[in-house]
Amino acid sequence: MASPMITVRNLSKSFKGQGVLKGIDLDIAAGEVVAIIGPSGSGKTTLLRCLNLLETPDGGSIRVGEIEIDAGKPISQQQGLIRKLRQQVGFVFQNFNLFPHRSALENVIEGPVVVKKQPRDKAIELGRQLLAKVGLAGKEDAYPKRLSGGQQQRVAIARALAMEPDVILFDEPTSALDPELVGEVLATIRALAEENRTLVIVTHEMSFARDVANRAIFIDGGVIVEQGDARELFSTPKQARTQQFLSKFL
Ligand code: ADP
Repeated sequence: MASPMITVRNLSKSFKGQGVLKGIDLDIAAGEVVAIIGPSGSGKTTLLRCLNLLETPDGGSIRVGEIEIDAGKPISQQQGLIRKLRQQVGFVFQNFNLFPHRSALENVIEGPVVVKKQPRDKAIELGRQLLAKVGLAGKEDAYPKRLSGGQQQRVAIARALAMEPDVILFDEPTSALDPELVGEVLATIRALAEENRTLVIVTHEMSFARDVANRAIFIDGGVIVEQGDARELFSTPKQARTQQFLSKFL
């Protein structure tokens, strides 16, 4: 792999003395779409949150582009780096996490204006374009509570895009949605995958993962049990634990 966009080495994380991530090594190339799958409680969300330091790892290192965070050094001394890393790494939450008292457009321009110090008119222009891109032209002034879950999640995706990140992380982006709204969000993510963006997606949508991801990673018990070409992993899983997990979705 040419110099990876993301490099994770020996990443570990415990909660209350319980090991949740047990020495994860991972390289993700620019333009790769990676699906992280595995049983509930296996550490998928914790891994994703560690990638942009929403969780502080106990050990190991994370590099995104030129920025490296070393959990062996005091995190308090790496806050500047963490801020920079977060600008490069967008995060789309399961529960959207929009500002409830701001319109769709205001949600999208917040990062560019406040964090990137972009002129407001430029941020508004980009924000409108991004809302149109996710199928929400005309909803600029709508407040989150007036939008469906699928629309809110698409605002959240536009908000992530507004920061022009190198990578976008999706944490079970459709699991809070009513079934009929899942498709519109998956279609939006699929369109981003087709633009050769670097995406890391924790998902329980197995057919989506198989069709859209280049690579699938199966995590169980805080370790990567198996990974590989998404279609191959789904069609011919090699490890017994992967086979057992995937058999539940047939
Ligand atoms: P997954 O995303 O695979 O369902 P998670 O990463 O959310 O798994 O959780 C892995 C384990 O870590 C679970 O046992 C969960 O209860 C625990 N865990 C996750 N976040 C916290 C937290 N903030 N405090 C305590 N335990 C946590």
